[in-house]
Amino acid sequence: MKLLEYAGKELFKKYGIDTPKGRVVSSKGELHNVDIPFPWVMKAQVLVGGRGKAGGIKFAENMEEAEKIFDELMNMEIKGEKVRKILIEEKLNIEKEYYLSFFLDRSSREYLMMFSPEGGVDIEAMAERVIKTNVNPLIGLQPYHLRRIPKEVRNIAANLFRLFIENDCELAEINPLAISNGKAIAADAKVIIDNNALYRHPELPKEDVELTPLEKEAREKGIAFVQLDGNIGVIANGAGLTMATLDALNEFDGKGGVFLDLGGTDDPAKVKQAFELMAKAKPKVILLNLFGGITKCDTVARGIIEFMEEHKLDCPVVARIKGMNEDVAREMLSGYVIAVESFQEAARKAAELGRD
Ligand code: GDP
Ligand code: MN
Repeated sequence: MKLLEYAGKELFKKYGIDTPKGRVVSSKGELHNVDIPFPWVMKAQVLVGGRGKAGGIKFAENMEEAEKIFDELMNMEIKGEKVRKILIEEKLNIEKEYYLSFFLDRSSREYLMMFSPEGGVDIEAMAERVIKTNVNPLIGLQPYHLRRIPKEVRNIAANLFRLFIENDCELAEINPLAISNGKAIAADAKVIIDNNALYRHPELPKEDVELTPLEKEAREKGIAFVQLDGNIGVIANGAGLTMATLDALNEFDGKGGVFLDLGGTDDPAKVKQAFELMAKAKPKVILLNLFGGITKCDTVARGIIEFMEEHKLDCPVVARIKGMNEDVAREMLSGYVIAVESFQEAARKAAELGRD
C-alpha cells in the first residue's frame, strides 16, 4: 500500500524527521484556514510518481493565486489519477537536493540504502552517482553504513531506517531530501507498506484513491470486486476461475467490466449481496460461472432467486453451472437465467450479448 505524501510525512514526523509545515485541504474554503505564511507550495496528492514534471506542484504568492491553483490542481488527472487532496506547505529555500531511500531488495535478500548527492525530479538520470549500500536485515543499520553518506543527513537516515523496519515498508524514500537554511528536511515522502503486513498497522490511513465507490463498498462487505473497462459483469467462485472466465471472454472479443469472486461461499445472503453490488455496476450482461466443489450450486441459486425476486435486473444473466447439485440449481434457475452447458459456450454467449 502506498501512502500519499502527506501521510508519509506524518509518519516522518513521528520518527523525528523534519518536514515542512503543512496542511492538507480538499475544498477551496479550507484554504482560508491554512495558517502558513505565503509563499506556499501546493502539491497535488496522488499515488503516482513524477508529479513535479506533470505540473502537480505549484507555487502561490497570495490567496488569489492559491485559489486559482487550487482549481487547476483539483481538475487535473495525473497519469490517470484524479486529484482529491492538496497539500499546502511553506515554500522552502532549497540549497541542495539529495536523494535518500531504504528499499527491500528481494534479489539480494537484504535492505538497500540508496543515497544520491543530486536528488530531485531527474533522479533516474543520476543513476551512476547513486551510492548503494546493502544492509543485512539481521544486523540492521550500523554506523559504518552511515559513514558513506554526508554527515548532515546521517541522523535522518537512521530515523528513516527505523521507520522502514517498524512499519514493514517495501520502500521509504525522501526525494528531495532538501538542505534548507543549513538543515536537512524531507521535502517529499514516498512510503510503500508491504500489504501482507497491513494488519499490523491499523493506525495507518487507508487511502482509497485507487478504489471506485463500488469497490469501496465491496471492500467493506468483504467481497472481492474489481471494476474493469468492459461491459460484462463476471461472477465466479474462486479468483482463478474468475480470471479464467475473463480470459475466455477475451477469446470471443468480450470485455469484462467487473471481476467478482464469490470465494468459497454458498450462503444465499452473501450471493444476494454480490448480485446487488454487481447490478449497481450496470453491466450489459452478467456471466455467472459456477463450479460447485464444496460450494453447493443449489444454495447459490437460492441467493440468486432471492435477489431476482426483490430487484428488477435489467440485463440478462448467462449461467454455466457445474458441480455439486447442478441439476437442482439449473432447475431452480430456469426462467431466471440463460443456462448454458459449457464454459466456452458461456463465454461466447456473454460476449455476443455484450456487443453493442
Ligand atoms: P515529485 O515530482 O512528485 O517527486 O514531487 P516533489 O515533492 O519531489 O517536488 C518536485 C520538485 O519541486 C522538487 O524536486 C523541488 O525541486 C520542487 N519543490 C518542491 N517543494 C519545494 C519547495 O518547498 N521549495 C522549492 N524551492 N522547491 C520545491
Ligand atoms: Mn519527489
